Amino acid sequence: MADTQRKLGLWLIGASGNVAATIAVGLAALQRRKHAPVGMLTEQPPLDALPLRPLKDILLGGHEISTRTVAQTAQALATESRIFDHELLKAVAPDLRTFQKNIRTGSALGCGTTITRLASRKMNAGAANARAFINQVRKDLRNFQSRNKLERVVVINVASTEPRSPRRKSHATWAALSKALSQNTSPLPASSLYAIAAIESSMPYVNFTPSLGVDVPAILELAVANNVPVMGADGKTGETLLKTVLAPMCRDRALQIDSWVGHNVLGNGDGEVLDSAANKSAKLETKNGVIASIAGYAPQVRTSIEYVKSLNDWKTAWDHVHFRGFLDTQMTLQFVWQGCDSILAAPLVLDLARLADYHAAGNQGGVMSHLACFFKSPMGTRQHAFGPQMKMLADYAAENLVRENESNPPQHRKAKARRKRRIPR
Ligand code: NAD
Repeated sequence: MADTQRKLGLWLIGASGNVAATIAVGLAALQRRKHAPVGMLTEQPPLDALPLRPLKDILLGGHEISTRTVAQTAQALATESRIFDHELLKAVAPDLRTFQKNIRTGSALGCGTTITRLASRKMNAGAANARAFINQVRKDLRNFQSRNKLERVVVINVASTEPRSPRRKSHATWAALSKALSQNTSPLPASSLYAIAAIESSMPYVNFTPSLGVDVPAILELAVANNVPVMGADGKTGETLLKTVLAPMCRDRALQIDSWVGHNVLGNGDGEVLDSAANKSAKLETKNGVIASIAGYAPQVRTSIEYVKSLNDWKTAWDHVHFRGFLDTQMTLQFVWQGCDSILAAPLVLDLARLADYHAAGNQGGVMSHLACFFKSPMGTRQHAFGPQMKMLADYAAENLVRENESNPPQHRKAKARRKRRIPR
C-alpha cells in the first residue's frame, strides 16, 4: 500500500482560527519531533496501546470564511500571546503552507450577524441555499480525500460559536429535514450543514464548539442510518474541567454546595464573538448545566464571560464556591485558573480526530459517548463528572484492546509488545 493511502485527513471548520492554527503548528512540531506530545491523551496509557493513526500520517484541510491565513493567525499568536517561538514558526512554515492550500471557502449561513461580519472571503453563490451548500461541502471533502489519497477524513468543528438555534418541527425526522433543506431559508445553522455534509460523505463529525452541530434528532437519525460516528459538544478545557472534578469531590464527601459563581475573562476571536449576547447564550448553556447534574440538586449557579482584548489567547476564571459541612457550617472554596485557550484545546482536537478515526475503522457508528470527558455538554450520556468519564474512556480502550488481541495472531502480539517496551531483539 502506498504511504498516502494510510493517511488520515483532519478537516477543520474554522481553519484559520486560533485553535486551528495551534493544531497546525502543534501537529507539525510533533511530526518534526520538535516537541513531545504533552497534553495528548492518545499518547499515554491506556489509549496509546490502541493501534491509532500515527501523528505523522495526519494531513490538515478545512473550511474558512475569513481571508486571514493560518500563517497570519500563528504569527499573531506568537507575537501577541507568546505561545510559539519564532524559530518554531520558521520550521513549520512549509506545513502551514500545505494546510493553507487545502482550505476552501465556507459559509456563515444561519450564523447570525456577529459571525457574518467575519466573512471576508468571497462567498460561493451556491451557498444561498442549504442543500446547495451541503453539496458544495461534500464536493470539497471528496476532492480533499481523493487528491491526497486519504484513507479517511474526520471533520471537526472549531469555528466561532453560533447563536442558539430555535428547534423546529423539521428537525424531528430526516424525512422532514431533507425536504426543508431545499427551501430558501435554511432550517439549520452552518455547523449543522457541515455535519450533514460529513455524514453524507461517511466521514466522522465532531463538534468542539457549543454550536448546534449534530445535536438534532434528524441528523442523529442520519448518522445512525449511515453508521457514521459523531460527537459533541463544546470542548472541556478550562473552568468547566475544574468544575467537573471539584463538584464530584463535594458530592462524594457529602458537602452541600450552596452556590457556585464563576467569572471568566478572555481575549482572542472566540472572546470577541462571545461578547455578543446571542452567541454568549450558547456557551453559557453548556457551562451552566454541569453543577446541578453532578450534585443532584440545583445550587445557585452564576457564570459570566467577559471579553478583555488585551488578554489575547489567555483566559482567567475566578470561581467562588459556598459549601456547607457538618452542623451546617458554611465554608468557601475559591480558585483562579489561568490557561492558554488554544494550547488547551489543540491536543484534545488531535486526540478526538484519532479516536473518531479508530471508531470508524472498527465499523462503529452513532454517538461516541465514550468521549464524554472531552466535552462540557457530552452527547449520549448524562455523566458530567470527569473521573467516571475518564473511566468510560478507559473501559472503551480495554474492550477494544481485547478485540484487537483476539483478531491479532499471538506472534504478532508478542512482536508488538516487544516494540512497545523497546526491548532490543
Ligand atoms: P477564533 O475566533 O480564533 O476562530 C474561529 C474561526 O472560525 C475564525 O477564523 C472564523 O472566521 C471561522 N468561522 C466562523 N464561522 C465559520 C463558518 N461558518 N465556516 C467556516 N469558518 C468559520 O476562535 P477559537 O479560539 O479558534 O475557538 C474556536 C471555537 O472553539 C469556538 O467556538 C470556541 O468556543 C470553541 N472552543 C474553544 C475552546 C478552547 O479552549 N480554546 C474550548 C471549547 C470550545
